[in-house]
Amino acid sequence: MYDFGYFNHIDSADVYHSKYLNDFINLGKIKTSEIRLLIQKELCDEHSVLKSKFKRFFHVQNEVTMELPLNIGDYTDFYSSKFHAENVGKLFRDPENALPPNWLTMPIAYHGRSSSIVVSGTEITRPYGQSFSNDKTELRHQPSSLLDFELEMATIIGKENTLGNPISCGDAKDYVFGYALFNDWSARDLQKWEYQPLGPFTGKNFASTLSPWIVMTDALEPFKANVIEQVEPLSYLKSVDPFSYDIELRAFLNGVEVTRTNFKHLYWNPSQQIAHHTVNGCNLRVGDILASGTISGPGKTGKGCLLEITEGGKKPLILKNGEQRLFLQDGDEVLLKGSCARGDIRIGFGDNWGVIKANKL
Ligand code: CA
Repeated sequence: MYDFGYFNHIDSADVYHSKYLNDFINLGKIKTSEIRLLIQKELCDEHSVLKSKFKRFFHVQNEVTMELPLNIGDYTDFYSSKFHAENVGKLFRDPENALPPNWLTMPIAYHGRSSSIVVSGTEITRPYGQSFSNDKTELRHQPSSLLDFELEMATIIGKENTLGNPISCGDAKDYVFGYALFNDWSARDLQKWEYQPLGPFTGKNFASTLSPWIVMTDALEPFKANVIEQVEPLSYLKSVDPFSYDIELRAFLNGVEVTRTNFKHLYWNPSQQIAHHTVNGCNLRVGDILASGTISGPGKTGKGCLLEITEGGKKPLILKNGEQRLFLQDGDEVLLKGSCARGDIRIGFGDNWGVIKANKL
């Protein structure tokens, strides 16, 4: 489209042939929003020249190989669903005090590893690491036997702040380019042994899957939703007009729906995550990813990972063919889907899927 002069009036040359969207995002919201609206207008106009040359400008999804949409910078994974934190806390901590004392005061997170974020469809090799024998008496170097998925969403940062300058909760939305589906594959046995005292490490950094396209915040405007009622946080985590999004999220294991939840069930919203991430002056950059943490919701069907669904590996999940699962086996496929729908407006986030591959080390 650029070659046909569609965007001549927008100073945006050189970004359209890039492998990644970083340069496009770097144009800034005013230009990227203008380009989005221009394409939308052309697609809605039945006399559009663009539409008449459809095959030249567009490709059928099934006929192309999807690639990562971004050259990903830093990656941070939050822990922002109260439903998830309570479910996990009840399994591993005192059920009466499921949440750690700091949880309701700040969006907890750890710094992850961007190098192992892969695009949807990439095989996930079962990781090796340190874990105990079944009778828990011997520590071994062996493949994880408690492999899990985590249904999350990724906030894609679209504007940088300079080092030393925090982003306020009210301004945070200006720093978000859009959202994508994210699966934070997790090896629970490795995680359980290593996570104290410094948090997740090899139980997480072997792979995370990102969906191949990003839904811009402009497209999500009609789907703004109220935030969850909170214990009053410190003032830097408050904004005049707090909001979340109504995005229905589902997870499937080997074709069976195992989770149905919603982005709006997050306790800490992305604006608060950004405000807390930068409260100390930490700088975010274009192409950084802030993952939400497992998005669990209310009820039995709202649990966003197998750890919660099987209550810590005690209650098997029954699949279509009668097979049972506590955690993922080799050959299993996990598919995440996300969508917004209201009236005749519908937005899809694409597929986020991966198949577990045996480790032949
Ligand atoms: Ca996670």
